Amino acid sequence: MSRPETSHLFYQSRQRRPMLDQARGVYMWDVDGKRYLDGSSGAMVCNIGHSNPRVLGAMRKQMDKATFGYRLHFETEPAEFLAAKTASLAPEGLDKVFFVSGGSEAVESAIKLARQNAIAIGEAGRYKVISRDPSYHGCTLGALALTGYAPLADPFEPMMRVMPKIPAPRAYLDGLDPDDEATGRHYADMLEQKILAEDPETVLAFIVEPIGGASTGALVPPRGYMRRIREICSRYGILLIHDEVMSGGGRTGRFFAAEHWDVDPDILVISKGFAAGYAPLGAMVAHKDIVANVLDAGGFLHGFTYAGNPLACAAGLAVVEEIEREGLIRNAADTGALLKSELNKLMDRYSIIGDVRGEGLLLAFELVEDRATQQPLAKELNAFNELVDIAYENGLIIYSRRTRGGHSGDHFLIAPPMISTADHVGEIIEGLDLSLRQFLDRISQ
Ligand code: PMP
Repeated sequence: MSRPETSHLFYQSRQRRPMLDQARGVYMWDVDGKRYLDGSSGAMVCNIGHSNPRVLGAMRKQMDKATFGYRLHFETEPAEFLAAKTASLAPEGLDKVFFVSGGSEAVESAIKLARQNAIAIGEAGRYKVISRDPSYHGCTLGALALTGYAPLADPFEPMMRVMPKIPAPRAYLDGLDPDDEATGRHYADMLEQKILAEDPETVLAFIVEPIGGASTGALVPPRGYMRRIREICSRYGILLIHDEVMSGGGRTGRFFAAEHWDVDPDILVISKGFAAGYAPLGAMVAHKDIVANVLDAGGFLHGFTYAGNPLACAAGLAVVEEIEREGLIRNAADTGALLKSELNKLMDRYSIIGDVRGEGLLLAFELVEDRATQQPLAKELNAFNELVDIAYENGLIIYSRRTRGGHSGDHFLIAPPMISTADHVGEIIEGLDLSLRQFLDRISQ
């Protein structure tokens, strides 16, 4: 039973991939026995590696008791204890947790809670959510309206209300020094200008990925940016939402990426690494005052059938405990520093690598035509697909995105599980080196 003759599944395209057989630790095997190093933890999901026995054990234990309990019929221990654990890890005051099954659902939940809060406090005129371009916040219509990536969003116009956007702070493209406080101020002040242009009384929230994900390729904000963003939001009574769907869960070297700058949002969302691929799980974590406002005014008009199901929560709780028990956040910081320095060495040898960026084990490199001008590779050289396919042939999985607005531009996320060792780093760099060499051979033919 390896593969039906015709596939009746469809995703983004007709592209076929190998059939997965098993996965253990940082490795995955297809049904032909070929081994792959999971260099992107799926889509930055499988943070603690595959088939962790303690997590599987906790899930089996829960499965034997009950796989589902509808949240309006029963409270469950896994949901209660995971909520308590999450609140203990979240910034001061963010101690109310709303479970969902994925990142887009978490973003939708945050927007709706923010809107209901505005109504509850007599500010019903606030409805605009400012976001950044490029950015990614999800594929449901609300989250997509916030997503700054025209190729995914434009085809659905005029179905979506258009939310205002400001540029993401890609200092490397603008020739600015990200370590200079003036750079952070330059980009953060774009938020204030946008708020003033939109009329501050109509702006509900600003949503930001503290460390960028697929859209910007692990973009780390310039010095001072996150703090100034916080100040601007507070000045105008606008809620700050951190989208930590990808950056949350420890892979940047902190449980939440925003801890790098000690900046607290009003609401945050997490998902991917939360149950780390063991179950579909996400959460919105909100400041207790916001939740109190909404509940006092009659209740939160929102919810998903699978929210807080005990199996997913048991998986999430076991994942967070595993991260703490094994010191995986420290390992993500240390192994990530080694991987980044090795990626920088590759950049010294390959002039088509225009930038290496990221924090911990959320890293990326970008391919360019010319490093000096940061021009993207020529359109016909679609590195986006080619390099990924070559890496596959070499047993390495990497995650790619093409996000230079209307231009071509290819970046690749390198984000192996947080259990990765120096040996795995060696294997990843060897696989990338070989794949880049073969890619250059192919495009020079
Ligand atoms: N926000 C961010 C920052 C993400 O990276 C993603 C997924 N790539 C989402 C939201 C949406 O998550 P999901 O695909 O689980 O709906």
